[in-house]
Amino acid sequence: MNLKNSFWLVFFAVLLLTGPRFGGVSTFLASQTSNLNLGQKFPKKSRWFGNQVVPSSVPILILAGHADSQGIDGSGTAGEAVALKGFSPMEVGISDELFWNLKLSHAIVKIGKKKGLNISFYQPKRRTILDGNNATTNWSVGARHAQNGGYSLEIHFDSYGEYGFGSGLIPPLTTNINNIDESLARTFGRYPLFFRGGLGGPRRQIRLLEIGKLEGGLENSLRNIDTREKTIRAIAIRIVNALIVGINQKDSFNPQLLTDDIFLPKSYR
Ligand SMILES: [Zn+2]
Repeated sequence: MNLKNSFWLVFFAVLLLTGPRFGGVSTFLASQTSNLNLGQKFPKKSRWFGNQVVPSSVPILILAGHADSQGIDGSGTAGEAVALKGFSPMEVGISDELFWNLKLSHAIVKIGKKKGLNISFYQPKRRTILDGNNATTNWSVGARHAQNGGYSLEIHFDSYGEYGFGSGLIPPLTTNINNIDESLARTFGRYPLFFRGGLGGPRRQIRLLEIGKLEGGLENSLRNIDTREKTIRAIAIRIVNALIVGINQKDSFNPQLLTDDIFLPKSYR
């Protein structure tokens, strides 16, 4: 073997060894989510910006939206299939949204743990808890987790048709919007800071992630038994990837403060 050949041999060996560390894994994960179509993102421009660095070991708590409010106001969307097309609910007694929120939450935690995240899931034991401030609701447990320095993320699918807005992150009401929030917003879309005047979750530092409107192609691919697991997995991978990108960002994501921004300047651009 001459000198030129051994150079190329060493070159390819180095490439092979370092490849997965420098993008091989994320390229692989990205390829599994590339066919995923979540429909429209939140359509208007929202001007907040997450720029706080997050510790690598941050405990992430996943909550399934509406897990404690079945059969009462705020039980989650029935989805287009049930509400407009006459299909049966996925599971008797719970909204289709909760059914998918639960399935997706489990998948996020499973994949997140495999990828090394400090991530867990909380599910209230009772499906209907009238008092939102009861100690076992998503709100209370998520708020305590956030108060102790954790990241609380509640998973939702949005309403169909004119009742929904599309995918995106509804940020917490705080000046400490962080790099994970920014990464999720860049991946899924960005709801305004005071969406609907400030919802119960965001007021308690719980982030709400709207995956997409429960209708059309997205709902079909969830309901179709042949594509269900693949779809759930692809959404979960997209979320876990965004969490990892946010955690790995060790300075601010390209911040730009406009001169006329005077309100919560730390969180706007
Ligand atoms: Zn919801």
